[in-house]
Amino acid sequence: MKIIAHLDMDSFYASIEERDNPQYQGLPVAVGALPNGGSGRGVVSTANYKAREYGIFSAMPISVAWRLSEEAGRQGRPRAIFLPVDMKRYAENSKRVMEIVRQVMEKEVKSAIIEQTSIDEAYLDLSFTGSYEKAESLAEKIKKDIREKEKLTCSVGIGQNKLIAKLASAKNKPDGLTAVTLSQISGFMDSIGLRDIPGIGPKTEEKLNKKGIMSISGLLKLTKDELVGMFGKWGEDIYDKARGIDESELETGRETKSISEQETFGKDTLSGLFLIEKLRKLVKEVHIRMILENIKTFKTVTITVRFFDFETKNKAHTIEMASDDRDLLEREALKLFLPFLDKRGNPKLKPLRLIGVGIENFNRKNDNNKESGKERSGQTDLFDNNQI
Ligand SMILES: [Mg+2]
Repeated sequence: MKIIAHLDMDSFYASIEERDNPQYQGLPVAVGALPNGGSGRGVVSTANYKAREYGIFSAMPISVAWRLSEEAGRQGRPRAIFLPVDMKRYAENSKRVMEIVRQVMEKEVKSAIIEQTSIDEAYLDLSFTGSYEKAESLAEKIKKDIREKEKLTCSVGIGQNKLIAKLASAKNKPDGLTAVTLSQISGFMDSIGLRDIPGIGPKTEEKLNKKGIMSISGLLKLTKDELVGMFGKWGEDIYDKARGIDESELETGRETKSISEQETFGKDTLSGLFLIEKLRKLVKEVHIRMILENIKTFKTVTITVRFFDFETKNKAHTIEMASDDRDLLEREALKLFLPFLDKRGNPKLKPLRLIGVGIENFNRKNDNNKESGKERSGQTDLFDNNQI
C-alpha cells in the first residue's frame, strides 16, 4: 500500500522572523518587498496568520498590504511589521527542518525517501509504516520534533498519492494533520474547490464555469472525452485529478548537474521593464536552489529565450573565477539577455514567450553533517554532500 505525506511549513519566512525576533511575537508580520511608505513596488512573500486577519496575503502588492496595515493602525490595532526577505537564513532553517524529517524517518526505515519540492515543502514516502494510523503517528512525531527543535509548526497531509497528500496538507493549516484514507477520498474531493486542484487556474475555472461546472462534483459528470475536447491532453489530467488519481512518483536520487528556472508569460512581450524584472526573479530562484542544494560555486551562466514563434536561443557564458554571488549571476544573465531586447539579438524585434536562467559547472560543499553523525548512503537528494 502506498502512503504518501506532504509536509508544508506554516507561513515559513514569517514564522522564522517571529521566532528570532521576540518583539514581533503576536504582531502581524509580512516578509517581502518593503513598503516605503506606500510607494514600494514588489509583493508580499509570506504573511503570518495575524497579518492574514488584516487581509494581507502572499503575492499581494506591497502597496496594498501597506494600506491595509495603515487602516488597521487608524482603528487602533497594531500596524504590520514589514521585513525584507533573508533567503540565506530561511534556506538554512529549511535544511535543518528537512534533516529532522530524515532523522525521524530513518529511525524506522533504512533510507528515507523524501522529495523536497520547495524551501518549505516536501513529500515523504511513508509506505513502510504499513497503515494510515502508523503513518499518522509518525507524522505526529515529525511535527513534534520540528516544534521542539526549531520552534516552528508545519501542516501535514497523508494520502494514497502526492495529489491527495498535498491537498490534505492544505486542509487544516496551520499546525494541521489530515489523513485521507481510501474510503474517504471521494468525500474529501467533494469538500475542496475547483481551484484547489493543482493546474486549475482562473482560465480553466472560467471555462468550466461557462459550462455550468462550479464544483468537483460537477466536474465528475464530464466524461474524459468531453474534457479532452475542452482542454486537449490536459483534460485527461483533470479527469484523473478530480477523482483523486495521481500516478506520479516521488523524485529523488538525481545528482544535479545544472539548475535552471524558466517562465512562460501569459502574453508574448518585448517590454524591457517586464522582462528584466522576470529575469531578476528567475536569478533569485536559481540562487536559492543553489544554496539549498549545497552547491558552493558555479562557473557557467546560461539563458534561454523563446520567441513567440517558438524559435529558441540558448546562450552561455563561463566566468573565469568560480563564484556564488547572486549579483554577479544577475549581471552575467543580464549581459547575455539584453541583446535580445533590441536588434543585436533580435533583428525582427519578435516578442518573447519564455525566458530562462541557469547555472552549471558546480563545485559542491563538503560539509560533513555533524548532527546526524553518520554518512548517508544510497539515495542522493537535495542535501547529499557530493564529494568534489
Ligand atoms: Mg508553506
